[in-house]
Amino acid sequence: TREWQLVRRPHGEPVDEDFALVSMERPDPAPGEVVVRTLAMSVDPYMRGRMNATRSYAPSWELGETMQGGAIGQVVDSRSDEVPVGALVLHGLAWRDVAVVPAAHVSVVDPLPGLPLSLYLGVLGMPGLTAWAGLFRLAAFAEGDAVFVSGAAGAVGSLVGQFAKLRGASRVVGSAGTAEKVAWLGEIGFDAAFDYHAGAVADLLAEAAPDGIDVFFDNVGGEHLEAAIGAFRTYGRAALCGSISGYNAVSAPPGPRNLSLVVGKRLSLRGFIVGDHADLRPEFVAAVSGWLQDGSLVARETVVEGLDSAVEAFRSLLGGGNTGKMVVRLAPD
Ligand code: NDP
Repeated sequence: TREWQLVRRPHGEPVDEDFALVSMERPDPAPGEVVVRTLAMSVDPYMRGRMNATRSYAPSWELGETMQGGAIGQVVDSRSDEVPVGALVLHGLAWRDVAVVPAAHVSVVDPLPGLPLSLYLGVLGMPGLTAWAGLFRLAAFAEGDAVFVSGAAGAVGSLVGQFAKLRGASRVVGSAGTAEKVAWLGEIGFDAAFDYHAGAVADLLAEAAPDGIDVFFDNVGGEHLEAAIGAFRTYGRAALCGSISGYNAVSAPPGPRNLSLVVGKRLSLRGFIVGDHADLRPEFVAAVSGWLQDGSLVARETVVEGLDSAVEAFRSLLGGGNTGKMVVRLAPD
């Protein structure tokens, strides 16, 4: 098998020398284990945190350890009665072309007629549930709310905006890093969007949401969070999902300078981790499957081909090379 390992901790932006693609003997499966051939794997922003020596919410990777992450694959050998050869499964041991996994750690999934299996890594998987939990539980979105989402053209952000529109938002505004992404947000139903490079985020947001916002879904942090605090109406709610603007930072970024507004505006700012909200999965899967089937939800992917390109895909993700979910495809479905 071939597996990607972290061989040096990135300082700032990750570079190719921080990683190595190594070949190794595949161990035989022990009783209760399955061997899964990877069809597609996920690269996600939280993985940047796992490359640091200091613990983020997920533990650090050791140097010389094969990296991990969401993957979808097909069982090619099985020593489990529950998960037979041929089954399609989701598991957490990506960054390798073949994984040996305890059957108890895989979820068997159904093929999606006419749709790529990689949707289980995005709209029907962890990023989708993140968008769902953050918007509906943490930010307590209600019909008629005006919503602002940062990182809006990414996997999570593009779903947040669409979920809000489908559930009756009065206005949905997004920010993203290029003119093409801004145009695409218009195509998928955002009422307004801006390129955050075009000026001060506070000014761009004031223009896009002149009457203020009730809900902020933050993927970016930093200047975006400060701008949202400024734009909030009374009783505004923020779901703090990520702060990717600081993931490659080598020193602590400054905090929002207007935090004192939180008091007078009676704001709630709530951080969350998707893993704590697995109880929402049934309602999330039911709603999202319906929207995918009737065409009311757009689930875009940026697909990079081949395990050899996985690090390149990860680096590209941090640099904004994706629209929608970034996935690495190792083999056709
Ligand atoms: P995305 O698909 O949104 O990809 C990352 C995007 O971040 C890039 O495409 C890029 O788009 C944008 N970006 C990169 N650098 C900057 C910057 N300096 N300022 C603004 N935007 C930047 O990733 P996901 O949808 O998977 O994740 C989105 C966020 O959600 C991340 O912060 C992630 O850590 C977080 N997350 C949190 C979870 C939780 O449980 N709390 C679970 C899953 C994700 P652009 O071109 O617009 O700059």
